[in-house]
Amino acid sequence: MICKGCYKEDTDGYCLSCRKKLFDRLRIPAVLSFDAPKADNIASFQEHSKRLSISGVQLKYSLRLENKALVFTEQSGEYILKPIPPSNLLVAVEDAPENEHLTMQMAEQLFGIQTAANALIYFKDGAPAYITKRFDVRSDGSKYQQEDFAQITSRTKASHGETFKYNGSYLEIGEAIRKFVAAAVPALERFFQLVVFNYIVSNGDAHLKNFSLIRSTEGEYQLTPAYDIMSTVIHTPQESDTALDLYPGDMDSAFYQTYGYYGRDNFLELAAKLGLLENRAIRMIDAFSARREQMEQMVQRSFLNDATKAKYLSNLADKITRLDPK
Ligand SMILES: [Zn+2]
Repeated sequence: MICKGCYKEDTDGYCLSCRKKLFDRLRIPAVLSFDAPKADNIASFQEHSKRLSISGVQLKYSLRLENKALVFTEQSGEYILKPIPPSNLLVAVEDAPENEHLTMQMAEQLFGIQTAANALIYFKDGAPAYITKRFDVRSDGSKYQQEDFAQITSRTKASHGETFKYNGSYLEIGEAIRKFVAAAVPALERFFQLVVFNYIVSNGDAHLKNFSLIRSTEGEYQLTPAYDIMSTVIHTPQESDTALDLYPGDMDSAFYQTYGYYGRDNFLELAAKLGLLENRAIRMIDAFSARREQMEQMVQRSFLNDATKAKYLSNLADKITRLDPK
C-alpha cells in the first residue's frame, strides 16, 4: 500500500505526516462513508463556459471534520472536494482527481513549491476525488482576507467579458505582486518558479483567478500557496500552452517566431521584466531538467492509468526540451 497523500510506501490510508497536514493527525480513512453526489447542473455549467477548460466544468464541494469523520457542509467548510468532472467534452476525466494530486505533490516534494495540503480520496462506490485543505480558514473557523488577481487587477465579466480571467499576462500579476507584497523579491521568485512549473507540467489553465494574495494576521499581503494545478492538456488537448501571455509582445520575440512556442529565452525575458537576477532565474529553470528522472518516477508511482501516465511523460519530456539552452 502507498499513502494516498504523498505516495510513501508501506502505509495504510494516509501516513502520519499527511494526517498532520490534512486532518489534525486524525486517522481518516481514504474511503469516504458516502457516494459521489449526483451532479444535476451539468448542462448549465457547460453552456456558460465559452472556453473549454477543466476549471469551467469542475464541481467543488465543501467538507468539514465532524466527530472524526468528513461530512458535507454548506457553511464553515475546511476542505474542498473535487470529484471526477461531469463532462463528456473532456478527455480522460476519470484521471482528473489524480492528475491534480500528482501535479501538486510534484510541485511540493520535488521543487519545494508551497502548496495547499492535498490528497486523493475515494467515495464509497470507489470513484476517486481530489481533496484539499483550505488555507484561508483559521483553526477557529474565521477567514483570512484573500483576493485573486482578477479581483486585484479589477477584471470582471462586466468589464472584460466572459473570458476575463484569461485576459492578461503573468508580467501583470508580477507587477501587482511588486505593488502589494512588502517582501516582493522572494514572492516574485516563487511566482516565477510556479509559472515555469506550470509550463513544464503542461498546465494551460493557470489564469488570473488561480493566483491570489492573502492577508496575514499582521495585515501584510503574501502570495498564497499554489492551488488548482494539474496537467490540463491531458483533459483539454486543444488548449493553448499557457492561460495568459508571459508578457505583452512575447509572441513577436525571435524565439517564438522561430519555433512557434515559448522557450528559455521567453522565460528569461519574463524574469528580467519581473526584476529577477538572471542567474537565479536560470537556476530555477534548470532545476526542472535536473529533476527530470524524479518527476518521471513520481508519475510512474501515481494512481493514473497507464495511457494517461504515458501522455503525462511525453508532454513533460517535450516541455523540458523546449526549455533547454538552444
Ligand atoms: Zn503521506
